Amino acid sequence: PTRSMALAEQAKRVAAEFEFGDDAVNKAVKEFIREMDEGLEKEGTEMSQIPTYVTAVPNGTEKGLYMAVDLGGTNFRVCSIQLHGNTTFSLTQSKVAIPRELMVAKTSKELFSFLAKQIEAFLKTHHEEHYAGTLRRREGNSVPPQHDEIFNLGFTFSFPVNQIGINKGMLMRWTKGFDIQDAVGKDVCALLQHEIDELHLPVKVAALVNDTVGTLMARSYTSPGKTGTLLGAIFGTGTNGAYVERLDKVTKLTKDKNAGEYDSSTGEMIVNTEWGSFDNSLRTLPNTPYDIELDEKSVNPGIQMFEKRVSGMFLGELLRLALLKLIKDPNVPLFTDDNSSSNDVHSTTQIHDSSPIWKQWGLDTSFLSVCAGDSSPGYRMLRQTLDKDYDISAVSAEDAEAVREIAAAIGRRAARLAAVAIAGIVINTGRLDRPSGSATTERKSSIEPPRGDVDGSDGDEIDVGVDGSLVEFYPNFEEYIREALRAVAEIGTKGEKRVRIGIAKDGSGVGAALIALVAGQVA
Ligand code: ADP
Repeated sequence: PTRSMALAEQAKRVAAEFEFGDDAVNKAVKEFIREMDEGLEKEGTEMSQIPTYVTAVPNGTEKGLYMAVDLGGTNFRVCSIQLHGNTTFSLTQSKVAIPRELMVAKTSKELFSFLAKQIEAFLKTHHEEHYAGTLRRREGNSVPPQHDEIFNLGFTFSFPVNQIGINKGMLMRWTKGFDIQDAVGKDVCALLQHEIDELHLPVKVAALVNDTVGTLMARSYTSPGKTGTLLGAIFGTGTNGAYVERLDKVTKLTKDKNAGEYDSSTGEMIVNTEWGSFDNSLRTLPNTPYDIELDEKSVNPGIQMFEKRVSGMFLGELLRLALLKLIKDPNVPLFTDDNSSSNDVHSTTQIHDSSPIWKQWGLDTSFLSVCAGDSSPGYRMLRQTLDKDYDISAVSAEDAEAVREIAAAIGRRAARLAAVAIAGIVINTGRLDRPSGSATTERKSSIEPPRGDVDGSDGDEIDVGVDGSLVEFYPNFEEYIREALRAVAEIGTKGEKRVRIGIAKDGSGVGAALIALVAGQVA
């Protein structure tokens, strides 16, 4: 009993280091708003606040057939999307792994011609009617594709680009294992279009899409409310958000004589915040010894500091570092219980040398979800996972409880930080002050939204679309976000009730298609 009490106390102490209280949340929200505004005015700020040239969100009545492709990491996805105009859509897709050698090819042509060939194969299989003319054109019959034969395509490209038009953006640098030097500084839409044209395909790269903007668009099309979606946010491997801003606030764009063209009639523009780098200088972010160590040993110290406290890529590592502290504790080391109350044959807990817990990035964030989701007596699931996935056998219930407590503190802190970003945007866009019905993005649709307002709200809801495994699978992530939103002075219980959070699947499919549609309207 003395060991278990001492261990529980030690676990509480470590968990307490991850506390991010109401005052801290409020301070961080103020800083978030300051950095939002700063980023709208000038370049080189902590949050990039990138203008996307997308000036409207859909209202669910959009119709038509579009294509979308997604190049983001290991796979290349091609799809066609039929928008039915009643908030629903159908989607056909194919997916191929990108050959390693193309990720590090000598020339960008090798990669982009591969992508164009995948688009060709997709058309051949799924859209014969759009493909027929291609062969005629190849044989020298130079009749250009007819207007209704042309597919507008949204290109989701999840690498840092300097966007200078709705379908124009220069690659700043490769990430995620890609390295093709001659592509850097080039317009990735033009590179893809060139290879599409070589094959005479009736496809126009109409829009360059960031995945957060896709999430926002997809949610706005499918969401049942009366007003358009305010914010699309991703909590997956990384975290980022895009939201609807007043165009006159985006002064670094509106005052830039070299800016590309955009439709200013809506008075709005979607801005990609790049909030992963919010507060890199740590004015308001929490900074435990575990955060410090994680950052120091990362490939990009001092950068993406918000992301390092919030997203799936990092939460598992934070937990690992915190557990190591307990494992190495001289008084009550974790996982050393002589576990005599257990039914296991080997009743002494053992961390095997092979355990991934000894290695950087060895602990996956999905383990935090296992911990949070296991309320069984004795934490059977949690202990099984430690045994099976982490080579830590015969863990006692007391040790499992300690792990669970720390994991919960890290998950809860991540959700409260996520709330900082959501709160900053809800407050700074003035949506809370907007009486219902006066939203400029109010739906003009005469079509009844099929799902209606189930909660009986009268149109003053503030809609947020989210995507990513963390928000989708971490138990109660949304509830923790809401708890923090209620604690924000400007929001409170009343404001929090107006925020509606919904999963927006398939931003890079239907979202990209919607951006291609919007792009086609202004072109
Ligand atoms: P991506 O953001 O790369 O498109 P995901 O949204 O699936 O893909 O996010 C992947 C991240 O989510 C990984 O960092 C992984 O550790 C984490 N993750 C996967 N499953 C879960 C889960 N059940 N609970 C919490 N995090 C998870």
